Amino acid sequence: MNDTMIWFDGNMIPASTAHCSVLTHALHYGTGVFEGIRCYKTQTHPAIFRLEEHLQRFNKGTAVIGMHPDIGLMRQAILEVIAINQYTNAYIRPLAFYGTGGLGLDTSCLSTHLAVMALPWTSHLGESARLNGIRAKISSFRRNQAGAIPPLKITGAYVNSVLAKMESTRAGYDEALFVDDKDRICEATGENVFVVKDGHIIAVKHSDAVSGITRQTVMEFIGTEEREISRQELLNADEIFLTGTSAEVVPLVELDGTYFPIGSVTRKVQEMYQQVVHGELSNYQHWLTYVESQKVNTLINK
Ligand code: PMP
Repeated sequence: MNDTMIWFDGNMIPASTAHCSVLTHALHYGTGVFEGIRCYKTQTHPAIFRLEEHLQRFNKGTAVIGMHPDIGLMRQAILEVIAINQYTNAYIRPLAFYGTGGLGLDTSCLSTHLAVMALPWTSHLGESARLNGIRAKISSFRRNQAGAIPPLKITGAYVNSVLAKMESTRAGYDEALFVDDKDRICEATGENVFVVKDGHIIAVKHSDAVSGITRQTVMEFIGTEEREISRQELLNADEIFLTGTSAEVVPLVELDGTYFPIGSVTRKVQEMYQQVVHGELSNYQHWLTYVESQKVNTLINK
């Protein structure tokens, strides 16, 4: 298999040659921030979906942990990684993290690192998820509270998602949903939740949930209500679907033994989402950043 090229601290290098120390602070304490971005094949050039919104969230996350990377440089690195690997459908993973300089909790003396990786796309919930839906379990774990760790893509915070995912897969499910102490739905381990009832679409709102860019996208193109939803209300839904950059729009067909059909609303949202990300709807072209390899390569070769 060809070694994918990644951008690491200003250099474009084969992924297999990128190394960091076992004293890396982020390895011990989860002091990093990442993003998950998608690039799609379109009729012309590959296009990165909602790159600016992903960069903004990345910027917010890095600010929380006291890092201030050059966002313009990250944007350029993302374009270059797609271009040099000649990817069309790809998953892009920017990462900022604290490196070496001490194992105390004070970060002021630590080195900082930036990387951009990309992989040819494979869906994290599996390709059949979009078609056939997934089965989920309510997690016995609580979501990190926003007052403890802000709901951004801070690497250490994802231990919470990993625990919930582990519990649900061990019980034979695909995914887990978090509820809070008042039995309100928060989100899934890597997706936001939508409910369809009597033809209305409701985006589940919760202060501990990550503010998903896919959720925002669906809300903007379909026009939805946004509010808190209890576990009971979720169980009474006509249709449920999950949204996320890597999952896209996935029907939820079972929650702890209660079954939901894949309805026409979910199918419509899925269809529209695919059209939007592949650049087939002219109204949403502003969400796409086209990667014109010729131009980007010129920059790499400078
Ligand atoms: N919740 C969590 C916990 C996530 O990790 C993600 C993925 N980033 C989402 C929701 C969905 O966010 P987005 O649509 O921006 O990918």
